[in-house]
Amino acid sequence: MISLERVTEVAIVPGSFDPITYGHIDIIERAAYIFDKVVVGVAVNPEKKPLFTLEERVKFITDVFESSSKIEVKSYNKLLTDFALENNAKIIIRGLRAVSDFEREFQIAQFIKKLNPTLEVMFLMSSPEYMYLSSSAVKEIAEFGGCLKGLVPNNVEKALMKIYQEGRR
Ligand code: ADP
Repeated sequence: MISLERVTEVAIVPGSFDPITYGHIDIIERAAYIFDKVVVGVAVNPEKKPLFTLEERVKFITDVFESSSKIEVKSYNKLLTDFALENNAKIIIRGLRAVSDFEREFQIAQFIKKLNPTLEVMFLMSSPEYMYLSSSAVKEIAEFGGCLKGLVPNNVEKALMKIYQEGRR
């Protein structure tokens, strides 16, 4: 029998956020509506070869949520389970878009439970307008000069245009 006490007021929303999109922002804001505090955990993830540096990814998110005292942005380079406990969080929130997200997310959730059974992974369904939005789609659109309005916040849009117009990378 597990403890029926309310476990936590803090939730972690982890991800690569390379870069943050309105799909992520929607999930983070909805998590902040449910929990007292949300820690956005930006994973270092060198194996994913991110387009933006860790500092850039953190800065984009910090700028978006600068007026929200409930949302804190931190980077981490360790097991997500350790990062969660360090932040007194017992809940990890992930977003689910289409069925295609499910298998990978299910696997991640199983690993988290295996590493620390006291943690819970909860899923928020994508809002319909962001169902097809992903960081990789946004990068592809930017690369070919497509319109990013309504997909990413202004700071990200500017940075993407700079990269692809000036061929920074
Ligand atoms: P990761 O590399 O950990 O998957 P991402 O930055 O790609 O990191 O995604 C972080 C989380 O945000 C994941 O749970 C992902 O499913 C979710 N997510 C990404 N885009 C959307 C979206 N458009 N709507 C809802 N959730 C999303």
